[in-house]
Amino acid sequence: MSHPYPTPTLHAVNGALALEDVALQDIATRYGTPAYVYSRAALTAAFEAYRQALGGRRSLVCYAVKANSNLGVLSVFARLGAGFDIVSGGELARVIAAGGDAGKVVFSGVGKSRAEMRQALAAGIRCFNVESAAELERLNEVAGDAGRTAPIALRVNPDVDPKTHPYISTGLKSNKFGVAFDDAPALYRRAAQLPHLRIHGVACHIGSQLLDAAPMVEAAQKLLALVDQLAAEGIALDHIDLGGGLGIRYRDETPPAVAEYLAPLLAAFEGRKEELCFEPGRSLVGNAGLLLTRIEYLKPGEEKNFAIVDAAMNDLARPALYDAYHEVVAVHERTLPPQRYEIVGPICESGDFLAHDRSLAVAEGDLLAILSAGAYGMTMSSNYNTRGRAAEVMVDGDRVHLVRERETVENLFAAEQPLP
Ligand SMILES: *Cc1c(COP(=O)(O)O)cnc(C)c1O
Repeated sequence: MSHPYPTPTLHAVNGALALEDVALQDIATRYGTPAYVYSRAALTAAFEAYRQALGGRRSLVCYAVKANSNLGVLSVFARLGAGFDIVSGGELARVIAAGGDAGKVVFSGVGKSRAEMRQALAAGIRCFNVESAAELERLNEVAGDAGRTAPIALRVNPDVDPKTHPYISTGLKSNKFGVAFDDAPALYRRAAQLPHLRIHGVACHIGSQLLDAAPMVEAAQKLLALVDQLAAEGIALDHIDLGGGLGIRYRDETPPAVAEYLAPLLAAFEGRKEELCFEPGRSLVGNAGLLLTRIEYLKPGEEKNFAIVDAAMNDLARPALYDAYHEVVAVHERTLPPQRYEIVGPICESGDFLAHDRSLAVAEGDLLAILSAGAYGMTMSSNYNTRGRAAEVMVDGDRVHLVRERETVENLFAAEQPLP
């Protein structure tokens, strides 16, 4: 039987939920709500699953920082020896502040500015994943001016067939990411002529919340064919970066275990000498975090009952933005008869909901845990309605670290001024 919760280190003790060895009630009492709560053991287990599946193979797992960029989270991965996939100069600064190794950083994104390129060159990152012909030229120029050589990979779109894999959204010809597969050879030839670039590898990232390895295998095979074609022309690539995208269980999805997901890819790379890189985000952090919130009011209605909680769409945007499903569980067991509730926040928008039609046995003042909130939760939060962002807390065994203080209202307008 699978674990009752998608969060592996969440469990019930005497009718109340605990993450690792810490009762969620104690976290709410100490740090208030809403609060994001992460499990160090769950983060570590998720990373180790990649490492173990990759075995002794020459490889690097670069955590995709945009999924959760809290320094506490980054420091856990840095200590495990992870690399990092960044999409901005800000994320690079975070990685370095958290003790990450710049030499294991890959820089993705379609809009890198000159300043970001300079910053990344000075830090000595491992590789720029270049996403256009224009970026190639600009990077060569910036590197030349800085007296450096920029290591590059081209991010190509393997254009994996959407009919066979309907959920793929970023590996197609028709989106803004990467360069067209058919244009890649000419761009590599161009890169080989540019004096301040050093060709390092090739990259792709075909989509997110993938529940099947098949499209990745198809993409990997296309990349391998490209690598061989380039080698025949004398352009040698030393690393192949397959991006992120492995999905997680939010509700009843059954994503493959990491080892299961990687097995066919490793088979496709059997006997190849290139370093194999991955950029997982969601699968490393998604189920290592939850959003802890308190019920402010219960509001019965003729058609629907509402549980109005102190977290809102500014804290967790995914339900409002993508109609995403997150499991919601009561922190304390009650003997009340369960009722069906809309779980909504205090924000003045009808779209401000966290979950629809959930059966819960709760009373006013009770705590709820919104699960699978470790990825694209806090990083997509905002201050809409002048709401300070939530505290973030890391549980480690029986210890708790506050890894981000709750924002105060003064924080929110400290950089603003009324007219004189
Ligand atoms: C977002 C992103 C990732 C991480 O994707 P997940 O679905 O969270 O694993 C990896 N690489 C790139 C280039 C990305 O944009």
